[in-house]
Amino acid sequence: MVSKSDQGKGASFSRRALLKIGVTAVTGLVLAPVLLLSPSARAAAKASKASVGYQDKPLGTRNDYGKLGHVQDCSNCSSFIPGPSAKQNGTCKVVAGSISPRGWCVLYTPVAASGKR
Ligand code: SF4
Repeated sequence: MVSKSDQGKGASFSRRALLKIGVTAVTGLVLAPVLLLSPSARAAAKASKASVGYQDKPLGTRNDYGKLGHVQDCSNCSSFIPGPSAKQNGTCKVVAGSISPRGWCVLYTPVAASGKR
């Protein structure tokens, strides 16, 4: 025979189990479409170069002597994924296409002082 207190625990367990199943199902439904995207579809989720004002040259400032001061370019942006060498094009975490290490766009975000991307 099941006591009243045991009945309550069983009902509580059932609700908890149902809640876990529900959360798992909802999480799966939310993540499945993202995980099923092809690499080209994921690339399409990135911004286009035109939409972010991408240019193949840095955004730099020149001082009074014509020398470059602080320069913003992809090579020192936290979103840049370097190519095979420092001078070759790489890719970007947020902008689609081949990205020059000397390029720049409005989404520029400087690499942290630690150099960690
Ligand atoms: S987000 Fe950064 S790395 Fe990507 S294109 Fe813009 S400046 Fe370059």
